[in-house]
Amino acid sequence: MSHVSLIDAGELELLLTTARTFVRTELVPHEIALQAATWQEAEPVLAALRERAKALGLWAPFLPETLGGAGLPLDAYARLSEVLGWTPFGHYVCNCQAPDAGNMELLLQFGTNDQKSRFLAPLARGEIRSCFAMTEPEHAGSNPVVMSTRAVRDGSEFVISGHKWFTSSADGAAFAVVMAVTDPDAGAAHQRASQLIVPLPADGYTLVRNLPVMGEAGGGWASHAEVRFENVRVPEANLLGPQGAGFALAQERLGPGRIHHCMRWIGICERAFDLMCRHVAAREIAPGESLASKQAVQFWIAESRIEIHASRLMVMDAAARMAREGQEAAREEIAYIKVFVANTLQRVLDRAIQAHGALGMTDDTPLAWWYRHERAARIYDGADEVHKTVIARRALKPYLSARGRR
Ligand SMILES: Cc1cc2nc3c(=O)[nH]c(=O)nc-3n(C[C@H](O)[C@H](O)[C@H](O)COP(=O)(O)OP(=O)(O)OC[C@H]3O[C@@H](n4cnc5c(N)ncnc54)[C@H](O)[C@@H]3O)c2cc1C
Repeated sequence: MSHVSLIDAGELELLLTTARTFVRTELVPHEIALQAATWQEAEPVLAALRERAKALGLWAPFLPETLGGAGLPLDAYARLSEVLGWTPFGHYVCNCQAPDAGNMELLLQFGTNDQKSRFLAPLARGEIRSCFAMTEPEHAGSNPVVMSTRAVRDGSEFVISGHKWFTSSADGAAFAVVMAVTDPDAGAAHQRASQLIVPLPADGYTLVRNLPVMGEAGGGWASHAEVRFENVRVPEANLLGPQGAGFALAQERLGPGRIHHCMRWIGICERAFDLMCRHVAAREIAPGESLASKQAVQFWIAESRIEIHASRLMVMDAAARMAREGQEAAREEIAYIKVFVANTLQRVLDRAIQAHGALGMTDDTPLAWWYRHERAARIYDGADEVHKTVIARRALKPYLSARGRR
């Protein structure tokens, strides 16, 4: 995906309008039933909606047109991501959902021709799903250079053994991108691991369980699985990128990924805000008196509006810097948005639920579903505290070195 916007502004507005109409008229009517459905029940409904997304030109918007995508640059895709975030299944229906989107970006940038035709092309067509297995239950995922999974070279193969969890979408995935230590003696810790593509199922691979997360052990795309690799063999041709470059590739995957997530969260915020405003305007707390007349409620609305607006400006600023100067230059801005937008999301959802009273606790609106599913936003792709440490370390650097000189 190019980061620089080449798309005509009018063309983009047209695409956003198409997406908005599709989301509101064709996806929203399904959302309550889809939230309650098992993956087996949901998949055929979603498959039909995916065909509609293809017909409307909304398919895989971040992929080049040669792969069936819409070829949007990062800033344009960010805006579309917000529109799709209005409903829980918008990204899946348009084939730009995590973790497949990140895996497609990785394969596009670093895959060999053979890997592209075997793994990227069917993923881009929506025929298969994939997962990304890095985090291990025995080690702090916040410092993933410490990991036990090993991939040992044996002739022209790698033999992988390890234990992973929170491998999102592993249930039914056709392949996993697995992070494993291949070079335990490399001097720099971040040069010890590589990424390997493991076609699934495989001899020696076990999906131990779909983890219950906030009361739900969703299957299929919605799964977060615990998995084991016991002497799983893959050919060396399945090495993704250079050996020892696993963390460099993971970083490449995370920068655009955080922009995608943040804009999706802003879409969720806008929907929660809309539901909150509708509800408080309609709800009578006394004859002729709406909930919207209460200052406490007005403050929730004003604070939410300000925070959503600030979030969007911050994310578009980070995307623009990334487009101009590259991911490394935008690192600090990416840390700001990951913390700020994830926390905005949780505050806005919480206020919207509070405004709905008991209704907010039910699954008659998507609010409670999002409240369960998006609590993780402050943990995955770098916990709040990790990003804050990066920001503070940079801010303090000149002061601490000046102190050292005194
Ligand atoms: C819904 C969900 C989906 C996920 N999907 C995937 C996936 O598809 N693939 C995958 O590989 N992983 C996935 N993960 C795992 C995720 O990447 C890790 O949870 C994350 O990196 C944090 O690691 P940890 O859970 O081991 O927490 P730890 O690293 O043990 O940290 C625990 C807590 O300690 C605090 N903390 C950590 N480091 C610091 C620090 N330096 N300073 C101060 N405080 C700190 C933070 O508050 C953090 O939440 C997913 C997680 C969730 C919740």
